[in-house]
Amino acid sequence: MLNYISYENNHQISMARKAKVKTLKCKKCGFSFEVNSQEDKDRRQKEWPFVAPMPDKDGNVTITQMATWKCDCGYTIRGSAGKTKGKFEGKSRKEQIADLLEKNEKFEIEIEANGMGAEKENLEKMLNFMIKKGMASGKIEDGFFIPN
Ligand SMILES: [Zn+2]
Repeated sequence: MLNYISYENNHQISMARKAKVKTLKCKKCGFSFEVNSQEDKDRRQKEWPFVAPMPDKDGNVTITQMATWKCDCGYTIRGSAGKTKGKFEGKSRKEQIADLLEKNEKFEIEIEANGMGAEKENLEKMLNFMIKKGMASGKIEDGFFIPN
């Protein structure tokens, strides 16, 4: 996976520069290796995506590929294996939430988050943000969103 480069800051430089190679380091023995190297492939264990709670103005979200690596010393290294931008199943997360709010019905945040492939706490954060900004009208109580 390619590292995500921000083209917003400093375009002239980032266009010419290659993606920075990310290095991971074992906290226990100090062994370090580069992401996407053979050392990475040999040691990588679990992988899961972490989706940023808020999409940008185009409805894209930053997805961080999280992973764990088993170091030769036995320690489990945990970190990011790269970032990418993406949308979800045609509809952005923002649109999915807008659809949900349009129904104007009480819903359980965890169930809806699961349906979107999101973490409960991310959806809750996003709803809180939308309530604060006046984009959603309602409140969050005991894991439920309750419209006004
Ligand atoms: Zn180690």
